[in-house]
Amino acid sequence: MTAATRPPAATPLTAVIDGIAQAARLASRDPADVTLIAVSKTQEAEAIRPLLDAGHRVFGENRVQEAAAKWPALRDAYADVALHLIGQLQSNKAEDAVALFDAIHTVDRPSLVDALAAAMAKTGRRPDCFVQVNIGAEDQKGGCAIADLPALLERARAAGLPVVGLMCLPPADVEPAPYFALLAKLAREEGLSGLSMGMSGDYATAVTLGATHVRVGSALFGARKAMAA
Ligand SMILES: *Cc1c(COP(=O)(O)O)cnc(C)c1O
Repeated sequence: MTAATRPPAATPLTAVIDGIAQAARLASRDPADVTLIAVSKTQEAEAIRPLLDAGHRVFGENRVQEAAAKWPALRDAYADVALHLIGQLQSNKAEDAVALFDAIHTVDRPSLVDALAAAMAKTGRRPDCFVQVNIGAEDQKGGCAIADLPALLERARAAGLPVVGLMCLPPADVEPAPYFALLAKLAREEGLSGLSMGMSGDYATAVTLGATHVRVGSALFGARKAMAA
């Protein structure tokens, strides 16, 4: 084989894409029904460009300000980028978030529903919304309580938010499968098809349990530098 015909070496991106495809086939699902969100929080543009050059277009960020500083220039250079907000959103940043992001995964309280509805009315933009569920009932985590989910969804729908699914971040260091299965059940009960669940350590499990969006950072970019919380 000449260098030109040799298949390209596996990269972290191709490895994760293959992992998603394998898990999907195990569950008799179409891999095309799973969106890989490359979580580029804390990564500089130089670290992000190789994924863009490889054709990847869906990215996740957890802070509005960081994304607003980084992505406009990258979007000028690469067409059709889709940005997903996966971090907590303060109501006073709702308008910036609606202007910048194509999907918001962290809708978790009535005041934020109202702020997003106002921002959408004002900007005319309507990013897909996922309602985040505090699936392990952990005090320190965002997300609405399971008991509050029906009322929050009703409010979001009444406000006209395009709610497409549910999102969760299961407790650390325990088997995530039961939490993924519970989120899938809640989504079914609410007639929602989107399921944002699974990260670097557990995206394959999440895909077998129905994830439509996996949020993968360190498996693609390497370990993050310690972040100031
Ligand atoms: C950082 C983050 C991820 C990605 O985590 P990795 O373990 O690096 O894949 C996924 N979801 C949320 C909400 C995050 O904040």
